[in-house]
Amino acid sequence: MSDKQEFTFQTEIKQLLHILSHSLYQNKEIALRELISNASDSLNKLRHIQLAGEQYRDESPLQISLEPDKEGSILTIRDNGIGLSHEELVQNLGTIAHSGSKEFIRNLAATQESSGDKPDLALIGQFGVGFYSAFMLAEKVVVVTRSYKETSGWRWESDGSGQFTITAVEGDVPRGAQIILHLKPEMEEFTEPTRLEYVVHKYSTFVPHPIHMGEKILNEQKPIWVEPKNQVTTEQHEGFYQWLAHGTEQKPLWYLHLTSDSPIQFHAILYCPPSNFELMGFGAIQHGINLCAKRILVQDDSRDLLPEYLRFLFGVVDSADLPLNVSRETLQDHKLLPKLKRVLTKKVLDYLASLSDEQPETYATFIQQFGAILRTGIASDFENRDKIAKLLRYHSTFSCVETSLLVGVPQTKSTKPTVSLDDYLKRAPEGQAQIYYLSGQTSTSMARHPHLEAFTKRHLEVLFLDDPIDEYALTQLRMYSGKELMSIDAADIKFPESSEAAESETPKVAPKHFTRVLELFRGALDPHVADVKESSRLTDSPCCLVNPRSQMSSRLQQIVGQTVQDFEQTKRVMEINPQAALISRLCELTVNSDNDEFIRECGRQLYANTLILDGMLPDFDDAAARSLRFMVELADSKSVIVVWVGTTSDRRICLLCQTRSGAFH
Ligand code: ADP
Repeated sequence: MSDKQEFTFQTEIKQLLHILSHSLYQNKEIALRELISNASDSLNKLRHIQLAGEQYRDESPLQISLEPDKEGSILTIRDNGIGLSHEELVQNLGTIAHSGSKEFIRNLAATQESSGDKPDLALIGQFGVGFYSAFMLAEKVVVVTRSYKETSGWRWESDGSGQFTITAVEGDVPRGAQIILHLKPEMEEFTEPTRLEYVVHKYSTFVPHPIHMGEKILNEQKPIWVEPKNQVTTEQHEGFYQWLAHGTEQKPLWYLHLTSDSPIQFHAILYCPPSNFELMGFGAIQHGINLCAKRILVQDDSRDLLPEYLRFLFGVVDSADLPLNVSRETLQDHKLLPKLKRVLTKKVLDYLASLSDEQPETYATFIQQFGAILRTGIASDFENRDKIAKLLRYHSTFSCVETSLLVGVPQTKSTKPTVSLDDYLKRAPEGQAQIYYLSGQTSTSMARHPHLEAFTKRHLEVLFLDDPIDEYALTQLRMYSGKELMSIDAADIKFPESSEAAESETPKVAPKHFTRVLELFRGALDPHVADVKESSRLTDSPCCLVNPRSQMSSRLQQIVGQTVQDFEQTKRVMEINPQAALISRLCELTVNSDNDEFIRECGRQLYANTLILDGMLPDFDDAAARSLRFMVELADSKSVIVVWVGTTSDRRICLLCQTRSGAFH
């Protein structure tokens, strides 16, 4: 098979190569970082294979070398790791299997196309396509490699324009891989030893294998997690985090350095990134925790050490209780892992509780970024449910700019959700048995919701849930500190007696003919609502929809209905406020049965408006046609024609006007 074989890159890779070749090289250093990181991964894999069996052991120390050739304008990155077979070359350096990586590339392409922006390539390593960054530096990339399983090697070559070739290499090829970069003319700096040293120092200090350049070792390889906490500097933490997070230039939002001797021995460092990729639409976070046994990496993406709802944390966990030669398969069943997970989870949750007290600003940022992931723990981690609930934060009528003034609370400056369930309960009046919440699209739209009137009037705080997951989490929790969590659109809302007493004004009497209005509305809204009734909860708004099933708000029911087949949404009750100006006017209009249809139309439009306020969709055609009719009628009644102007005996100017329908004013 010594003939040259030609292959075409998968479409997404071609797209990526195009982006890389047009990038402004602002991130060119990351290419070196990625290639060193790949070499290090390959060495980790080989060490593992050697630990598991005699067969592949030899005396050569595992290492990475940088070999700059100034004259030839070539930089080679060499490792003596596992290498690649023919099949692996085709698979790993020609296609992308991971859907997250494809999504990442599509996103990059879209950013570049739509805004002409420089796409942020710093993330490339986190999306499993780091190798291709080599084409930012090189006009031609050659990979000469021999797999640890084989006796002869291969040469992979590409100029990054869409194809690559693979040729069998005659003669001896050392085990591992050499990535040979034929540098672009403007990238010659990557043959300067001082430049290379700088880049390694910046991005690759924590690579756990020595990086040689000539006689020199360029990195420290210091396992800082086994050092005493107070001897690790903030700079070291930042550097270590940047390495774990594939060379991001950001600093961690917070970190936790843990050491324990019993019941389990372990050292761990966990870092929280400053921002959440999932919010940028990159799909679920894929990385895991580095698991080490006595400083040696056993698994670099362990998902068994932390629950899903803490998946955003980066870090390393090192336990001497773990055998070195444990394989990926046996690791899954290792009884130490669930124990470690339990301890780590508890430590993180406790730390977060203290962070919220000690550094409220940092905590608010944390919640804004990761609150959405954290709250899913309420449904999945029964044991820690209350601890998680304590950590969540919301907007509320007392914290939101639009409503805080209404209830006489000075508004807070932060736009981040800051109200905890404990804060809420501390402020609640005595005898309040429920924690009230409203679910909707944004705090601003919720602030205008008619359901709030009864609560504002009674000075009762209502939490705003602007994400359906928030409400889902609360319905799972059901109770907090002995109080029932209740959506304020539920029929069985209980108000504390003290607030009712404060309310005891003279009971208002419904206007005459109110029952007739209810009757007309009922006829118009059947079968959309379960009933139409008089409301006692509204003060200004004419109506609201009340949900007889208290456990799930109508909004959540609607969302569940979209995904769960045969889910039956409960019909709601339309409550009408007899004191609202519109309703009392309609009551008067009932005396003339010619107005019946107009009253019914008002009922239908009120229903459509309420749906919109609830973030749901009315029958648009119908609602639009009706509001057009209303406008026409209103315009008609307003368009006055002046037929006579004069002055009266007391010198007032007098106009006689006629509407188009013929009436005189
Ligand atoms: P990632 O390393 O995140 O999987 P890359 O695009 O950097 O993504 O590399 C793709 C694959 O190519 C790697 O998963 C690995 O299997 C293989 N590979 C890259 N560099 C080397 C190397 N130096 N030695 C062995 N295999 C490598």
